Amino acid sequence: MQRIAVFPGSFDPITRGHESIIRRALPLFDQIIIAIGENGGKNPFFSLEQRMNWLGMIFEGESGISIATYSGLTIDFCRKVNAKFILRGLRTAADFEFERGIGQMNRMMYPEIETVLLLCAPEYASVSSSIVRDIIRHGGDVGQFLPEGIVI
Ligand code: ADP
Repeated sequence: MQRIAVFPGSFDPITRGHESIIRRALPLFDQIIIAIGENGGKNPFFSLEQRMNWLGMIFEGESGISIATYSGLTIDFCRKVNAKFILRGLRTAADFEFERGIGQMNRMMYPEIETVLLLCAPEYASVSSSIVRDIIRHGGDVGQFLPEGIVI
């Protein structure tokens, strides 16, 4: 059976922190689906199309990676694509508490699902999309926080 993982997120925008988690997880799974959640409550900074294009560009030629969008519950998307793993990255204790709650409740709803949490690389522990967005709003240079080749 194929080991399929979903890496859900907003990727608004994708950072080197996200990229690092995805590349490090490649040997663990047969396929990783990077899934942009279209969450009605969140008003994204970058359009869905722009975020999809960046992901496509960064992981072009990676046969183990595909890109998708979804709305609704992550576990419903996992069921649909037959994924038994949800991949997430951990930066801080706050991330852990957040992931623990969601991960445990997800398993109560979908007992076949396992959440796999990878510790973030220390150099990316402070990198977050929300801070990147703030820097952009104020005209700063975010190049060092974004994957190679992404220019804003
Ligand atoms: P969400 O809107 O669901 O928080 P994000 O796009 O912000 O989605 O993040 C998706 C996943 O990537 C989450 O598991 C988050 O903890 C992880 N992540 C975000 N930034 C980093 C980073 N710098 N290093 C490692 N993991 C990260």
